[in-house]
Amino acid sequence: MARPQPRPSLDLVAGYHSAQVDVSVRLNTNESPEPPPAGFVEALKLALDQVQWNRYPDRSALQLRARIAQVESKQPFEDTQSEGDSSNSLTAKNVCVANGSNEILQSLCLAYGGPSRSVLTFEPSYALHEHIARVCGTEVIQLNRDSEFQLDLDEAVATIQASRPSITFLCSPNNPTAMVENAETVGVLLQAVESVDGLLVVDEAYGQFAAWTALNLVAEDRSLVVTRTYSKTWSAAALRLGYLIGPTWVIDQLEKVLLPYHLDAVTQAAGLLALDYQAEMEQRVETLVRERERVVQAFKDLPLQQWPSEANFILFRPHRSDTNPSEGDRVWQELVNRSVLVRNCSSWARLDGCLRVTLGTAEENDKFLAALSEVLR
Ligand code: PMP
Repeated sequence: MARPQPRPSLDLVAGYHSAQVDVSVRLNTNESPEPPPAGFVEALKLALDQVQWNRYPDRSALQLRARIAQVESKQPFEDTQSEGDSSNSLTAKNVCVANGSNEILQSLCLAYGGPSRSVLTFEPSYALHEHIARVCGTEVIQLNRDSEFQLDLDEAVATIQASRPSITFLCSPNNPTAMVENAETVGVLLQAVESVDGLLVVDEAYGQFAAWTALNLVAEDRSLVVTRTYSKTWSAAALRLGYLIGPTWVIDQLEKVLLPYHLDAVTQAAGLLALDYQAEMEQRVETLVRERERVVQAFKDLPLQQWPSEANFILFRPHRSDTNPSEGDRVWQELVNRSVLVRNCSSWARLDGCLRVTLGTAEENDKFLAALSEVLR
């Protein structure tokens, strides 16, 4: 019997995996090193008693969306405050919630991508933008960043005008480079995207770690959405909860492709409760930003190149990668031998010899730095 064949376009798609190795210091998937606040866990246990297990959850997740709108409206957007008609009064109708921001990205591709449409990405960037687009049968146009991972804006605008992508993905801070985009870049891209009736998606999975956010540019008459997640700053990667902030007309379209009751009652309750711990979340971000500065300083004494990070991870490249193509693999393996796991990006396009380390606790970062100094000696 011949086996049923999947869609031909799936032949092009490889799975997306990060090695799950049993080590004592895990710094490979950009999670928070700390569990959520104890008060949150206790409150969630109590909230579980209120769940009506025999009933479907609130299909529109209205309470959660309203609370996210409230919290995100309160962000201090100093840099963009002068931009005019910025939306500082979001409502539930500006928010879409899903099982991780990956499901948000997938819903965007289902709604706006698909056959005979294309998405544009700026490489290197988050691999799932390309992956999800392909799974949804969407053509992917990839524009390379320069050797310092900066965008060539003229080239980007020309490509948008020539290729007319339905979606342009901009990741800021960018995974895996950790570099943030600025207001000018987002403004120029938005203008280009709108001139071809496209949508600009700014993926801010690491937005809270950066000095600048595109959130305040979201408005009803702009083709701009921002995606965020509970997986990093909210210490809740296990929860699988992400969201999008955007104009109501985008959310209306996403609701057509999301499955009925896609967000379960426990996730909705947990997401709602987590937002009561804003101060604790901000404290964790501050701690990680301080750790980031410490690791950046320590890196300066090591034989490696690093790129400016505004996220909870740092991309680096041992100098010896210049002459030895397998140096990235060697460093990764030697770190694993010392029970430290980082992300090996050394075979990814445009990232020859590079590794990416997630910032952990001070103790984890110390262990990582000690192991790395030994390995690079
Ligand atoms: N966007 C970026 C840039 C990411 O790095 C990640 C997680 N690795 C995601 C989105 C997805 O996060 P989640 O599905 O956990 O919300």
